[in-house]
Amino acid sequence: PFIIETRGLAYSYENGEPALKGVTLGISEGKKTVILGPNGSGKSTLFLHMNGVLRPGKGIVLYEGEPLRYDNKSLASLRQKVGLVFQNPDDQIFASTVEEDVAFGPLNLGLPRADVEERVEAALDIVDMAGFRSRPAQQLSFGQRKRVAIAGALAMDPRVLLMDEPTAGLDAQMVREILELTEELNYKGKTLVISTHDVDLAYEWADDVILMSEGSVLFSGTVDGLFEGE
Ligand code: ADP
Ligand code: ADP
Repeated sequence: PFIIETRGLAYSYENGEPALKGVTLGISEGKKTVILGPNGSGKSTLFLHMNGVLRPGKGIVLYEGEPLRYDNKSLASLRQKVGLVFQNPDDQIFASTVEEDVAFGPLNLGLPRADVEERVEAALDIVDMAGFRSRPAQQLSFGQRKRVAIAGALAMDPRVLLMDEPTAGLDAQMVREILELTEELNYKGKTLVISTHDVDLAYEWADDVILMSEGSVLFSGTVDGLFEGE
């Protein structure tokens, strides 16, 4: 079954060409899906719709078969289930220290202090940043900030993790680590969706691929189906 769907999703930024032009797709629960496409094809805009940051100009987004609702309560509940890691960690990291930043989401849920602590600890362990918890995030390397951003999303314990270009700007070793992490999370049952323009990465990593170009879906299916080239 699809955990997230879009139907006829269209969106234009102000003064812009349409960024999405009627996108219909489904994300299968428990799978690893790649949104593959060149810069500007609409991948980020699609992600921003999947967790309710943007509202469709036309069409709908569904979570578990239910159309998204855009009141604050529904959005807060959606964002516990669908986490988004931005391409640029600096669009996401605001607090002064690493641990405060990762604690932000769970604190907002109104969880007891001890539970928040536990989640922060666990999330920082997963991304291997536990030793940096009291450090100012601004003093970390790009790759480290990227991992803190991932920890922030994981601390919400979402069922679906959307990662926008998670390997962009990282060296080969860091790319491997991030990909291993995604495998581990998927193995534990999370639905993983990453965007990339890297065809090799899609081929090696994905179960399913959605190929985008200029705001439209060109192909949607299994990775084998795409590379068998029918
Ligand atoms: P991708 O993630 O595949 O690079 P985007 O979703 O970022 O694609 O962009 C799709 C289109 O929307 C592009 O033409 C881009 O220039 C435009 N766009 C993206 N963000 C904005 C924005 N904040 N304001 C105006 N146009 C935007
Ligand atoms: P991505 O491809 O992941 O969207 P970009 O480098 O295209 O990354 O965009 C980085 C930031 O700039 C995003 O916040 C995006 O929304 C914004 N952006 C992208 N294109 C435009 C545009 N044409 N006008 C204004 N903002 C844009």
